[in-house]
Amino acid sequence: MQDKNHPYGKPEISDQLLKEADKCVKCGLCLPHCPTYLKLTDEADSPRGRISLIQALVKKDLNPGKNLRLHLDRCLGCRACEKSCPSGVEFGKLLDGARKWVRKTIIKHSVQPRPWLLEQLSDRTRLKKIIRLLPLIRCRPFLAAGKKFFPAYHKKLLKIVEILPDRIVEPGLFPAHRPSGKSLQIFIGCAASIADQPAIDAATQLLTKLGYAVEIPRNLVCCGALHRHNGYPERADQFCATNQKWLKNSRAEALLTLATACHLELIEQQVSRNPVLTITDFLLDIFRSTSTPEFAPSSARVAVHTPCSSLKDKTLQLLTVIPNLEVFELPQNALCCGAAGSYLVNQPELAETFGEEKLALLRATKPNILVTTNTGCALQFRIQIEAANLHVEVLHPVELINRQLKHKAFRT
Ligand code: SF4
Ligand code: SF4
Repeated sequence: MQDKNHPYGKPEISDQLLKEADKCVKCGLCLPHCPTYLKLTDEADSPRGRISLIQALVKKDLNPGKNLRLHLDRCLGCRACEKSCPSGVEFGKLLDGARKWVRKTIIKHSVQPRPWLLEQLSDRTRLKKIIRLLPLIRCRPFLAAGKKFFPAYHKKLLKIVEILPDRIVEPGLFPAHRPSGKSLQIFIGCAASIADQPAIDAATQLLTKLGYAVEIPRNLVCCGALHRHNGYPERADQFCATNQKWLKNSRAEALLTLATACHLELIEQQVSRNPVLTITDFLLDIFRSTSTPEFAPSSARVAVHTPCSSLKDKTLQLLTVIPNLEVFELPQNALCCGAAGSYLVNQPELAETFGEEKLALLRATKPNILVTTNTGCALQFRIQIEAANLHVEVLHPVELINRQLKHKAFRT
């Protein structure tokens, strides 16, 4: 409940924010690691500047005008600053808290933006309806008019719609090709069940071929990350509670994730007592502990992009199972690609400039394939690559592994 006697709502929200922000000693060691500071060279767009801003806003030392909030909105939430902070400021949590605080205490006095898009994206029933509208949205006259007259935010949405797969992944049970009694669940999330549809299909095919029964659970919902990072933690907590309820009695060996942003949220919210593993980690483990299946050689040159949300990306190691494949880390992987959850649409111009930097690296390193383990990053790369007319295929590593697996040459 809102505390009407407190100028900025519940006192404990402000107290928590100040407690975390006050850990910052203003040393500036984080500045060279912050993509928005490097790009805009404005202290207010640096981690240190944003922390000062949060402190001033919460203490009422500054008027919370739109311009001040813009500096918070421009933050990617990539958490690159956390890794270099000697004081252990948990900037990601601070930013989430500040966005919640801004929503509850400032925006409510002006126009309260309904999280309409977040609600559409986080509900598979609504997404199914959107899928049916895709042919209409993609018709040439509509696209041409949209590209000409829409504001930047809607133009970016159109670009995403143009490259989305036409199908949403349906929940279900997929028996193992040669039953081994082992079973796994795959978490498909919400928007990722469309955007990552080819990767989820590849994961299901691969795992069933490797002897696992696969369940894509019907009752699991969105992980809540988009809501949490946009100032709606209460809604994110509802999703989390639903997922915890349905996972409580799971008998599967593990819940596998494909998208690192969902994975991070599921881990941080401790959604399940059973193991929650990235498919990369899971495959590496089974390839190490059992006989590795045989893979057809490939002469492709593969660049690996590491998403900011990846805890410890092992894609490079995983792909070494494919003979002859030339795999390398895309340079400057520590810098965000600009997708950053809903940043892609909320800050379209800035997101594009970050994407263009990645394009320059692709041009310089000339891979045939770019692999990434996060849904938003894959969308960002696909949009940028298509616009630049580059010939680089964007894949999830599991698609590449499944593509190269020799069908009759593996053992479990
Ligand atoms: S989260 Fe990323 S963009 Fe935001 S302040 Fe930290 S490094 Fe900069
Ligand atoms: S590195 Fe940490 S303590 Fe230093 S300015 Fe950045 S956030 Fe503050």
